[in-house]
Amino acid sequence: MSLPQVTLMEAKTRILPTYARSAEAGAWETYLAQVERVAPLLPKDLLRYIETLRQPKRCLIVDVPIRLDSGAYAHFEGYRVQHNMSRGPGKGGLRYHPEVSLPEVMALAAWMTVKNAVVNLPYGGAKGGVRVAPDALSRAELERLTRRYASEIAVLLGPDRDVPAPDVGTDEQVMAWIMDTYSMGQGSTVLGVVTGKPVSMGGSLGRRDATGRGVVTIAREAMGKLGAALEGARVAIQGFGNVGDAAARLFSAAGAKVVALQDHTGSIANESGLNVGAVRAHRAAGGTLAGAPEARAIDAETFWQTPCDIFVPAALEGQLNVARAATLACRLVVEGANGPTTPEADDVLRERGITIVPDVLANAGGVTVSYFEWVQDFSSFFWSEADVNSNLERIMREAFRAVWDLHAERRIPLRTAAYVIGCTRVLEAHAVRGLYP
Ligand code: NAD
Repeated sequence: MSLPQVTLMEAKTRILPTYARSAEAGAWETYLAQVERVAPLLPKDLLRYIETLRQPKRCLIVDVPIRLDSGAYAHFEGYRVQHNMSRGPGKGGLRYHPEVSLPEVMALAAWMTVKNAVVNLPYGGAKGGVRVAPDALSRAELERLTRRYASEIAVLLGPDRDVPAPDVGTDEQVMAWIMDTYSMGQGSTVLGVVTGKPVSMGGSLGRRDATGRGVVTIAREAMGKLGAALEGARVAIQGFGNVGDAAARLFSAAGAKVVALQDHTGSIANESGLNVGAVRAHRAAGGTLAGAPEARAIDAETFWQTPCDIFVPAALEGQLNVARAATLACRLVVEGANGPTTPEADDVLRERGITIVPDVLANAGGVTVSYFEWVQDFSSFFWSEADVNSNLERIMREAFRAVWDLHAERRIPLRTAAYVIGCTRVLEAHAVRGLYP
């Protein structure tokens, strides 16, 4: 039987626009729209390379079969996307979620490319995902899934090739299993193949709270620019996982009031400030957010209208849509999540005079401490938590200042300013490296 012949270009135009048109393509379309917005502002001599930002370098789709505890077999679809490696090895998290899709992982990988360049880390952008509800698996099943997924994508991994980290639905334990699986294949322990590992096994102090700490650092800087203080500011946070939980604790510790929280189980508010420690303890004991002590349960859309100074989306992409942007009652949005704001909602917020600090800057604290972890693993010399935190805060403040100054100088939104800085660095690396062969 003869197979139909297609050129590479045909194969690309058949495949990529199909994803871009699909109902699942929201995140990738958002990323492409962001690239379109920045293009006119990029240095003219780099514009000829802009197509490289629109094309993921590699997309690997893998079948992940596992034996369930019942003895039955189950198959899950997994992905690893390396969007751009011009500035260094691929770096980006691994997501376990029942709605993970290839276009979503492409977008998340692309945002990592821009983010790593905005904070000037020597990395390209990558991301992975498995379409699975991790809560529905036992711990043993989760370990088998993780080890099989790690083996399937091992052709792409390596401390100087591609380095995963935790994202939605994954944690330190998942990273430890990936490190161990990869190391078994190599015949020696390779700590630097993943970051976000347990501190007892090559992890870095301060990594767990790093993204939340970065969000709070950026919020403090942005409030300063708006002529306001973080102390006493009212904060609403969507998402109470790795990012939202750390942000809530650190906002409270900084003297801000967390007045509303939302996760997938419910929404709560307290105008005088929630007791974040009590809410955490309640959630840790298996309770829903709505039943937390010293808190009033509110409905999901009322949450989005909570009067506050700072709003932090820290759940999933596409949450801050036009309808919610029209009623959001804050002066500053600090994006803890990746891609939480649609391009149309961006416009609505800007028209309403609400300042938005974009994800590629605001949530870069996690990958920054991942970078510190990778450096520590290479040198086998581990830093104190105070050193990690002070270096993190310095890098976040410097990146914020550069983005803010460009935004003020060229009168462009903070997101566009961040993209000008990030995309210019990526395209400069592309230009000096040249095109192989
Ligand atoms: P997580 O799995 O630890 O937490 C996700 C949170 O979002 C949970 O509280 C969950 O209940 C909530 N959530 C999910 N669906 C929701 C919905 N429909 N409505 C309201 N809440 C919902 O994940 P995480 O690591 O905290 O990541 C959150 C976001 O931050 C993601 O966009 C992720 O890509 C981004 N991010 C994470 C890191 C990191 O270091 N973990 C770094 C940078 C960016």
